Amino acid sequence: VQSRTDGSRAHILALANQKGGVGKTTTAINLAAGLAELGNKVLLVDIDPQGNSSTGLGIRPEKRKKTSYDLIVDGADLQDVVLPTGLPDVFIIPANADLSSADLDIMANEKRSFLLHDALHQPAMDDYRFDYILIDCPPSLSLMTVNAMVACDSVLVPLQCEFFALEGLSQLMLTIRDVRRSANPALRIEGVVLTMHDVRNRLTAQVEADARSNMGDLVMKTTIPRNVRISEAPSHAMPVLTYDPSSKGAIAYRALAREIADRRKTPAMSEA
Ligand code: ADP
Ligand code: MG
Repeated sequence: VQSRTDGSRAHILALANQKGGVGKTTTAINLAAGLAELGNKVLLVDIDPQGNSSTGLGIRPEKRKKTSYDLIVDGADLQDVVLPTGLPDVFIIPANADLSSADLDIMANEKRSFLLHDALHQPAMDDYRFDYILIDCPPSLSLMTVNAMVACDSVLVPLQCEFFALEGLSQLMLTIRDVRRSANPALRIEGVVLTMHDVRNRLTAQVEADARSNMGDLVMKTTIPRNVRISEAPSHAMPVLTYDPSSKGAIAYRALAREIADRRKTPAMSEA
């Protein structure tokens, strides 16, 4: 993924947390839309067999003739898997249930952790000139999530503001450490983004205080509010940014996109 006009390549960002229902897919879809609004060309790679980000961006099952499974397991051509979405600058490599057997299907391959990396770093990727590639991970620390961590530059961790929210993080951090040691020494933690944040809820305030005191600058400034428009948008096959552009959810995801994009202009970020 080399040679953008300014000489840089796409920034690859994985959305990961082994807990389900924490906002990985919602953040992937809306961050893609938000980064596109800022003038970026964005590819979302869906590697969850549930295919929720594909559905949420309007890619109906019958349109998923070739998917991330074909890219990762069978080395399918990018031109057969990269699909346009309803948003002009947002493209997707969709997923479906084929992917549920992927871990087993690649287990015997000695490059099994590098298959997504190699697919996304192939020379043919340059032609697309993506500024960002977002990877929507499944709710596990499976081989697919490891593939995402090996392929990416940084990991963004959505954290739902609820009791036990921080409990699962140590396992995730251990996996990141293992991937750094074994395959991707440059892997960074982009940050932890607090999702389903409810200012009237005491528990939210406590989770936020704990997260910020434990992880400091690693916690994104932007928090994502619990907002019904966010949860309605996928059934209209749209990001909340287009479904209800002035909703609290849309405003928050725009701010998150800005927070992340601003870092690319000013490198030197803090790291835990
Ligand atoms: P994950 O991909 O981590 O499993 P999702 O992004 O699919 O999680 O979110 C789980 C559920 O919560 C979905 O039904 C989604 O619409 C809803 N949801 C996510 N973020 C919010 C939010 N900020 N406010 C309200 N509902 C949300
Ligand atoms: Mg998901």
